[in-house]
Amino acid sequence: MTRRKKIYEGKAKILYEGPEPGTLIQYFKDDATAFNAQKKAVLEGKGVINNRISEYVMTRLNAIGVHNHFIKRLNLREQLIKEVEIIPLEVVCRNVAAGSLSTRLGIPEGQVLPRSIIEFYYKRDYLNDPLVTEEHITAFNWAATQEIDDILATTLRVNDFLSGMFGAIGITLVDFKIEFGRVWEGDFSRVILADEISPDSCRLWDSTTNEKLDKDRFRRDLGNVIESYTEVARRLGIMNEMPTVIQGGKG
Ligand code: UDP
Repeated sequence: MTRRKKIYEGKAKILYEGPEPGTLIQYFKDDATAFNAQKKAVLEGKGVINNRISEYVMTRLNAIGVHNHFIKRLNLREQLIKEVEIIPLEVVCRNVAAGSLSTRLGIPEGQVLPRSIIEFYYKRDYLNDPLVTEEHITAFNWAATQEIDDILATTLRVNDFLSGMFGAIGITLVDFKIEFGRVWEGDFSRVILADEISPDSCRLWDSTTNEKLDKDRFRRDLGNVIESYTEVARRLGIMNEMPTVIQGGKG
């Protein structure tokens, strides 16, 4: 028996070598971290739910032509993905003020923004993922101008699609974080959506009560984290495929 090769281990996921060149296996852990990993916990079943929610969202995005790294789900915790060269940016898109935007600019949480705002953060834990501008991104060659244009256009498309998708099930998409990677085709590269889209990376509020159904339940010690992630999956209509341990809302 040979053990498959671990390529990278992050806070919530592990990447393993895939079965074919140009592929990887993305494994979703139950680990939850916040505040640059100063706060940690294991939330039983989180990885299974996020694997399934991310599969659902990426598949829907693929169907409307938003190319992404997802190929297929392999099992409860793993999905086969395209290997990409990750662009070291966290791209945040906001519709409603919350989190760091509210803290930084003093805009009350819950205030609807006059328009969607996209921000870039430099993905470096040891620097606490600082906010950066397009000037920094091009000057330091993290991404080219054309790539930034593609990222901005795709992010707005993802925002429009996800806002509608969640809106239809009574959930407000407050904000989300996505990441992009390069895939090479000969001498040319193309930027595609990568990483995950799940309640770990989005702020999702019940449209009627404004109850939080996302990672803020963990960050802010609100309890019922798994129950809330499960509620998102239930409203998306994908709960029936979950193992009974998670269907029961065990967290
Ligand atoms: N986010 C994320 N990973 C990060 C930082 C932020 O997925 O490392 C998501 C977060 O869940 C929220 C959005 O990006 O949906 C905006 O986060 P914000 O800048 O408000 O930071 P936070 O308040 O989470 O520190």
